[in-house]
Amino acid sequence: MTSNSAQVPEISPQQLQGGEAPRIAFVSLGCPKALVDSERILTRLRAEGYELSKTHEGATAIIVNTCGFLDSAKAESLTAIGAAAAENAKVIVTGCMGAEPDAIRTRFPDLFRITGPQDFESVMQAVHAAAPPPHDPFIDLLPPQGIKLTPRHYAYLKISEGCNNRCSFCIIPKLRGDLASRPAADILREAEKLVAAGVKELLIISQDTSAYGLDLRYSESAFDDRMVRAKFIDLARELGRLGVWVRLHYVYPYPHVDDVIELMAEGSVLPYLDIPFQHASPKILRAMKRPGDQDKTLERIRAWRTTAKDLTIRSTFIVGFPGETEDDFKFLLDWLAEAKLDRVGAFKYEPVAGAAANSLGFEPVPPEVQDARFRRLMEQCHAMSARKLKDKVGARLPVIIDKAGPRAAEGRSKGDAPEIDGVVHVASKRPLRIGDIVTVKIDRSDAYDLYGTAV
Ligand code: SF4
Repeated sequence: MTSNSAQVPEISPQQLQGGEAPRIAFVSLGCPKALVDSERILTRLRAEGYELSKTHEGATAIIVNTCGFLDSAKAESLTAIGAAAAENAKVIVTGCMGAEPDAIRTRFPDLFRITGPQDFESVMQAVHAAAPPPHDPFIDLLPPQGIKLTPRHYAYLKISEGCNNRCSFCIIPKLRGDLASRPAADILREAEKLVAAGVKELLIISQDTSAYGLDLRYSESAFDDRMVRAKFIDLARELGRLGVWVRLHYVYPYPHVDDVIELMAEGSVLPYLDIPFQHASPKILRAMKRPGDQDKTLERIRAWRTTAKDLTIRSTFIVGFPGETEDDFKFLLDWLAEAKLDRVGAFKYEPVAGAAANSLGFEPVPPEVQDARFRRLMEQCHAMSARKLKDKVGARLPVIIDKAGPRAAEGRSKGDAPEIDGVVHVASKRPLRIGDIVTVKIDRSDAYDLYGTAV
């Protein structure tokens, strides 16, 4: 749930019959799930013959895909809307903040349209109203895998929308509704197309990946010559057959997550689990409405690591949740020392408007205490990350190359997700290409990154 902005890909102007196509500028803010929504809209725009513009200048209309998860993300979205509105009378706002149109209209009364999250049809209608689509049946402007905002060698694959959980700090179910999973065959066909287009790593995303298919009652759909159940484990197994790296994000710690560890041990999906545990104190987890038995979770983590020896666990935590005492916080630090998680991110609690946590009646934690706890947690986790990475010195690891130069490159091991984890700095005697998967001998490490030589 981090906030990233993404740029639209540069696409050369096309002269279409009957004149130049309208140019649409696009600002994409928010998490990888929002990025996938942006890709869907951009794909539709290109399919209909619109040009995409990297800058606001000269654009017929500007679409701003907003993030409304935290107040800081809302502020970033409002700034982006303001910048667009200063340059263009046809600004179309969509995404999570679009669910609160009044808050946006108060600041920007003259916006062209505001639509809610995943309301792709309304976005396209607004674009049509701003500038009718050009018509050219002879030019196929669309690559079969659609428009992607990530580099060509990795892609985010969204398997469901919404969430059935009701974590008290989160308004995502209010904004995006209950879990709505895509049929397994639909996801697998998209995955196959991406692989055929050169993607080497699939990043599986949703609000709650391990709940996949619950709403469909795990119903089957036909893919190739077989029926595939809409179930987390079945989908992971099928994705693992595509022969590319498969990385699982946003896994909620349900008991059945244990099953997927076997697939990691076999090597069919990456030994990488992104599980936002959020806290460890049973009292705070209860208040957060999250699963609360962290002793059992420690046992499970130990068992996972016995099955999948090279498992990397990434997690995020909230510090300074209302009612969090020094004892609760110490409990979290002690739990982390036992859990030895590889990668940890943290948020300071923000009282997001509309979140149930604001009215639980607990004392808010003062900002200076939040800051101090955040620093303590990050210091402890940096030290753990440094120790874990040091253990890899001397190992030979497969690394996927993200950036390439003549004698040096930057890539990621199986334990590093793009954008959020560390990288592997690679020295090489031969030129490496983006998307290559090469073996790297690790020479040294620091708190986040590894350094090594291609062999
Ligand atoms: S699992 Fe909890 S935090 Fe994640 S989207 Fe669902 S309600 Fe929000």
